[in-house]
Amino acid sequence: MSAKKRILTGDRPTGKLHLGHYVGSVANRVRLQDQYECFFIVADLHTLTTKPEKEHITALHQNIHDLVLDNLSAGIDPEKSVIFLQSGVSETYELNLIFEMLTTVNRLERVPSLKDMAAAAQMGEVMPFGLLGYPVLQAADILLPRAHLVPVGKDNESHIEVTREIARRFNYLYGEVFPIPEALIGDVPSLIGVDGQAKMSKSLNNAIFLSDDEETVNQKVRGMFTDPNRIRADIPGRVEGNPVFIYHDAFNPNVEEVNDLKERYLVGKVGDVEVKRKLAKALNDFLTPFRERRAYYESKPGLVEEVLVTGTERMRAEAAETMGQVREAMGLYRLPVRVGQS
Ligand code: ATP
Ligand code: MG
Repeated sequence: MSAKKRILTGDRPTGKLHLGHYVGSVANRVRLQDQYECFFIVADLHTLTTKPEKEHITALHQNIHDLVLDNLSAGIDPEKSVIFLQSGVSETYELNLIFEMLTTVNRLERVPSLKDMAAAAQMGEVMPFGLLGYPVLQAADILLPRAHLVPVGKDNESHIEVTREIARRFNYLYGEVFPIPEALIGDVPSLIGVDGQAKMSKSLNNAIFLSDDEETVNQKVRGMFTDPNRIRADIPGRVEGNPVFIYHDAFNPNVEEVNDLKERYLVGKVGDVEVKRKLAKALNDFLTPFRERRAYYESKPGLVEEVLVTGTERMRAEAAETMGQVREAMGLYRLPVRVGQS
């Protein structure tokens, strides 16, 4: 048995990964691949919580492919880490049901992000049972591989708290099966979008995607929100909370250049055009290796699917092991084996 601790994290296949996902979670995924045994989930079942209609489900097919490719292009090494499809692991549904008994409706109603999700999906006051159970299903994802660490963005922290409570409750009732996992929040807990109005999100049209080409990045940076009070380059500007400088801090490794730009910005000695040109250059340099890896994986037809199938098989084996421990610990009745069968 491997002595390494485990990571589980991932995304719903609702669109392409962006810079917010990178700084919130993906950077830690890539960084910790050697230290931890990593399981990265493509959480297709979680999309049913707000979009159960068939046309939305079939629309996921392309997204699932793209999400795996995004992870690979970001530097996830399929030789080291597992990438798997949530709906391909039937134990997820089983553990979800057991965990539903270990939390309360009141507790779930206090999870702040669920109301936001219901509002975003225009569900009004009507909360589907499954959406209320979103954090319970996530607990099943995290605890199925018995993970210790969950790299996520800030908005997900309250979900991990539910997972911790469920793990503690299970262990208390039935004996120690699960680790109590910790959330690991990224260097930028919540990256603001290019619009400067809300966190970067694939559904708000304010994202720079990991798959954007050079010209698209240039264009998006040119259109970025900066200091709205600064109508001319010789007016002293605001650095703090200014999206272009937040991005410079997060993605431009040339600290000297960034400090020089900030100093001149504060006293009105540099134009937005130069600050943005240097940011676009830094972002494109940052994304160059992503583009190279993407081109490599795209040049091998079937490779992305192969990674997902292999990863799902690996996760299934782990899930079967966990469910064996769960049934044993709970003392669920074991059906007798028929005579003549093993
Ligand atoms: P949607 O618009 O569908 O809500 P999203 O872009 O917000 O999508 P999620 O699937 O909700 O992405 O989040 C996946 C992971 O990425 C989570 O761990 C989340 O916390 C993190 N994350 C998403 N957006 C950001 C962001 N702007 N900054 C930091 N982390 C983020
Ligand atoms: Mg979100």
